[in-house]
Amino acid sequence: GRKFFVGGNWKCNGTSEEVKKIVSTLNAGEVPSEDVVEVVVSPPFVFLSLVKSSLRPDFHVAAQNCWVKKGGAFTGEVSAEMLVNLGIPWVILGHSERRSLLNESNEFVGDKVAYALSKGLKVIACVGETLEQRESGSTMDVVAAQTKAIAERVSNWTDVVLAYEPVWAIGTGKVATPAQAQEVHFELRKWLQVNTSPEVAATTRIIYGGSVSGANCKELAAKPDVDGFLVGGASLKPEFIDIIKSAE
Ligand code: 13P
Repeated sequence: GRKFFVGGNWKCNGTSEEVKKIVSTLNAGEVPSEDVVEVVVSPPFVFLSLVKSSLRPDFHVAAQNCWVKKGGAFTGEVSAEMLVNLGIPWVILGHSERRSLLNESNEFVGDKVAYALSKGLKVIACVGETLEQRESGSTMDVVAAQTKAIAERVSNWTDVVLAYEPVWAIGTGKVATPAQAQEVHFELRKWLQVNTSPEVAATTRIIYGGSVSGANCKELAAKPDVDGFLVGGASLKPEFIDIIKSAE
């Protein structure tokens, strides 16, 4: 089976004091073992070392982005090589906030995923439609095109977790219903089956993100194609522990 995966995306939040507080809350949390759930938290770059050195050993860290190729004269960027050098195992790529606010295209995100994997990073790759796209009935076309740009550049999916994050559900409190999430996850898995391989489709974790909370996680987690969560706002709160527990 696919091991349940819970990611916490802290986005551009936190002071070092707040980060220390969050880490101590996480460290004290009683959660299922690593055999049952994989937990990855993603602080801003500047706090990666602090979190990595103070976080419990059964939780892991992710960067929220990295440069598309080898580092060099790219002011303001952080390379995959640097993350590897620091011992950061994971990176989030293609988050909708970067796609929309920083104009990252499907192809650019696909290139980033391929490059990060080639350097040995594991990748949480994000896809998802806007409200306008959902209302016009193009949800599957949009997420398929986003996934295709990755699939064209990646042959080994072992180190990829696919995060379905409908843009209309992010930070809005408007969580997708379990049925809505399941429908897209099921279609995405079918897409992988046809366009990659039955094995990739069966083994790749597809996690849901968008207003996940302690209150709604159980129902979502019960859906057969929902293999975990990518949590924003609630990952900064003690509630994140309850979300991790929904793995059981
Ligand atoms: P929220 O959980 O705050 O809606 O954010 C979801 C998200 O974007 C995680 O990457």
